[in-house]
Amino acid sequence: MFGLIGHLTSLAHAQSVARDLGYPEYADQGLDFWCSAPPQIVDNITVTSATGQTIEGRYVESCFLPEMLASRRIKAATRKILNAMAHAQKHGINITALGGFSSIIFENFNLQQFEQVRNIKLEFERFTTGNTHTAYIICQQVEQASKQLGINLSKATVAVCGATGDIGSAVCRWLNSRTDVAELLLIARDRERLRLLQEDLGRGKIMALEEALPQADIVVWVASMPKGVQVDANSLKHPCLLIDGGYPKNLETQFQHPEVSVLKGGIVEHTLDIDWRIMQIVSMDVPARQLFACFAESMLLEFEKIYTNFSWGRNQISVQKMAMIGEWSIKHGFQPLLLEPR
Ligand code: NDP
Repeated sequence: MFGLIGHLTSLAHAQSVARDLGYPEYADQGLDFWCSAPPQIVDNITVTSATGQTIEGRYVESCFLPEMLASRRIKAATRKILNAMAHAQKHGINITALGGFSSIIFENFNLQQFEQVRNIKLEFERFTTGNTHTAYIICQQVEQASKQLGINLSKATVAVCGATGDIGSAVCRWLNSRTDVAELLLIARDRERLRLLQEDLGRGKIMALEEALPQADIVVWVASMPKGVQVDANSLKHPCLLIDGGYPKNLETQFQHPEVSVLKGGIVEHTLDIDWRIMQIVSMDVPARQLFACFAESMLLEFEKIYTNFSWGRNQISVQKMAMIGEWSIKHGFQPLLLEPR
């Protein structure tokens, strides 16, 4: 059995979802309540592969909210993740993806040191960040959606916002070695980590976001921002492809400009309907088929019976492992989300 540990994007989102899912006692509560709420299994999932194989899974809502980080409720945030992991393990889930901020909190607050959660000794090999598949899918979106817009990668400048992150650095490594992208712009706040990435890649220009945006044909957004930024369409190149892989989204702006295309990053579409209700509440356009690539990673590992933390730690995703999970992704019927024809 596979599992997904998820969370909602804001307190307001959580309140409306609680109402929809039939938990009215959660719906009118503020952040304090969510800080003390225990994890819950809120969905049973059945997925059939393109090969015909069928697997079962569970969705674990951790009750973490990004506002907990913004208001420095770190203890609450870390307990949410550890409790959700213990809950998944207690329910016999073999391989569970740590969605969105779950893996970021795990790494940033070094939760590896808290193995014992009450009577459960966490077996970390039962968990995966899902970031290898996410990075692979985002790279496929760069390669395929650029073609849809007539952007030639060999002449294109690609900016990666969150370049030094786990997903961002993997995207940079792939674009560097598997494509002929003309120019890479590297964006994050910590200059030293940017410099090390640049050294590792042997290329790339380190830039501030405002400086990079007017130069980029494609922007990959994979920064761990609890709240999105506003971008002026007139400050971008035309055409410009924005691939927003953040959860919550990195971009707050709704673009109306005909030459600015926004693609939900790190999202896959399955060839067959999935029996679940959870994707409805995270606003997927086709909730029966579309899902986060990190969640799909735990499905792929279950299909392939690989019960190990395929993606773990930080900045260790290799291009080889991306290619490997990419093969399984195609084999089991997942495709990267692309632009709708206009
Ligand atoms: P990491 O914590 O590993 O990396 C985050 C990166 O963002 C770092 O480079 C960090 O560098 C940078 N960053 C943070 N804040 C800012 C800022 N204000 N401006 C510029 N750069 C910033 O995160 P992950 O790679 O694990 O995840 C990245 C995003 O992807 C998150 O939003 C996450 O929720 C989402 N995600 C999406 C998935 C999907 O399936 N679609 C799956 C998993 C994650 P610095 O601190 O130096 O600025």
